[in-house]
Amino acid sequence: MSEEKSLNFLEEIIENDLKSGKCEQVVTRFPPEPNGYLHIGHAKSICLNFGLAERYNGKTNLRFDDTNPEKEETEYVESIKADIKWLGFEWAEELYTSDYFEDLYQLAVTLIKKGLAYVDDSTSEQIAAGKGTPTQPGVANQYRSRSVEENLTLFEQMRAGKYKDGEKVLRAKIDMAAPNMLLRDPVLYRIKHATHHRTGDKWCIYPMYDFAHGQSDSIEQITHSICTLEFVPHRPLYDWLIKQLEIFPSHQYEFARLNMSYTVMSKRKLLQLVTDKVVEGWDDPRMPTISGMRRRGYTAKAIREFSKQIGVAKRENLIDLSLLEYFVREDLNKTSTRRMVVFDPVKLVISNFPEGQIDYLEGEDNPETEEKTYRKIPFTRELYIEREDFMADPPKKFFRLAPEKMVRLKYGYIVRCDSFEQDAAGNITQINCTYFPESRSGSGDNTLKAKGTLHWVSASHHVPVTLKLYDRLFTVEDMGSAEGDYKDHLNPDSLIFNEQALAEPAILEDQPGLAYQFLRKGYFILDSGTGSDAQGKPVFNRTVGLKDSWAKESRK
Ligand code: ATP
Ligand code: MG
Repeated sequence: MSEEKSLNFLEEIIENDLKSGKCEQVVTRFPPEPNGYLHIGHAKSICLNFGLAERYNGKTNLRFDDTNPEKEETEYVESIKADIKWLGFEWAEELYTSDYFEDLYQLAVTLIKKGLAYVDDSTSEQIAAGKGTPTQPGVANQYRSRSVEENLTLFEQMRAGKYKDGEKVLRAKIDMAAPNMLLRDPVLYRIKHATHHRTGDKWCIYPMYDFAHGQSDSIEQITHSICTLEFVPHRPLYDWLIKQLEIFPSHQYEFARLNMSYTVMSKRKLLQLVTDKVVEGWDDPRMPTISGMRRRGYTAKAIREFSKQIGVAKRENLIDLSLLEYFVREDLNKTSTRRMVVFDPVKLVISNFPEGQIDYLEGEDNPETEEKTYRKIPFTRELYIEREDFMADPPKKFFRLAPEKMVRLKYGYIVRCDSFEQDAAGNITQINCTYFPESRSGSGDNTLKAKGTLHWVSASHHVPVTLKLYDRLFTVEDMGSAEGDYKDHLNPDSLIFNEQALAEPAILEDQPGLAYQFLRKGYFILDSGTGSDAQGKPVFNRTVGLKDSWAKESRK
């Protein structure tokens, strides 16, 4: 196997573990909490976990980390599954932390029996105060010395629903003076009388993250439990619990979470955008969610390539959104179907083209594919071209249409501008041309030459469409350190409607999910959210422009 890139640190660890026999088969997991839709950061984690297992013939479990009954919903479970499948990955098993509630409870009982956990009646404020500070050790309270029997009884009563929320917690008994604050008797279980989306009212005590994650890893015999850097200080607790419980020795490894420019990424903030109605929903094409990116026309392949390319870092950094867009363009350039759409039409009349005549031109659907397919494009005496493609008084290097100048109309003929008409305000209302029948594309006649090629649509055979032109959701590069209300940083131009665009008729016959390149304009996809607008016109989302216009603008 030829290797382009050297191994990343996780691959190195895995290769060593396989070589030394520390593990026989790599087992990873992707552990989303079903409290929101997945975003590009999760996509990175998915590509990493599933990618490592694929590379080393291992397997990856999908585990819903559903220990917070109040915030979780089945809707999120379904969207998460759909997103992972769409990205192109298959999980070995679909699992839920809530399926382990009984096992976890028994593990807690084991800890109590070993004298390593106790029931504490303090309030959360008292517990926090008792933990001390990073420079001052915590203090043990009177509950810490409860007997094993008393703890067993109280814990059982907690489960049985004898106490109200917050009246008691179960804590590990580790070290109130540990330099790592997380080891100062962390809370393992809390009381919460809430209905869980899967277990209903069966439980009124729920394990904390630290007493669910590692134990679930062990139950599933996960060999490499990969998480983000903020869990580094949790690792000693992860290891302590596994060691004391004498269960399967899963190991935790950390990498830097993905942060991207001009967007926000935590589910909490994304939810706020949805509830504040700043966006249409979780799948708004401006959202960094997988469903938003899919609706916008980003491809799974582009997201996978992007994830691979950025690699795994050990330090937090900010990745430029332009890099993701680069991979989207790379993929779409190869796969998208070409169509002509005029965004800002101005009429062009060919005086020597017979009225009523229709020439059906052949247009290649995609010049990048080996297997060629074509569509028919009606060419008529009256056409529309792009207003900006004509200038009455052009500068020297203007290679589009101007008086006396010639251009090729894509797939068709060369035309020469003879005259133009204007309204009182000086707006061009019509361009009059002569066409040259022998110059038809593919005719082989090269007598005439034109520097520019313009896209166009027939004035009598076209489809009015609505275009949704998207841009960055925020104007600030690093939203993570932006001050004040996020609403102060919204880009007012993140969505612009174009309701005057005209498309060639072939788009009516195309299937809905098709990725398009609207020639000279950008990549587009039919909006799966609306499909058509109030007037019944098809609505297209701009996936990304042909070039990185943002990079240039920000340098101005
Ligand atoms: P958020 O902070 O956005 O709500 P989270 O970490 O709470 O995300 P989880 O559902 O707990 O979301 O995450 C599932 C997995 O995805 C975890 O392993 C987590 O580390 C990983 N993950 C989440 N966000 C990122 C990110 N920005 N970059 C890389 N991995 C991420
Ligand atoms: Mg989380």
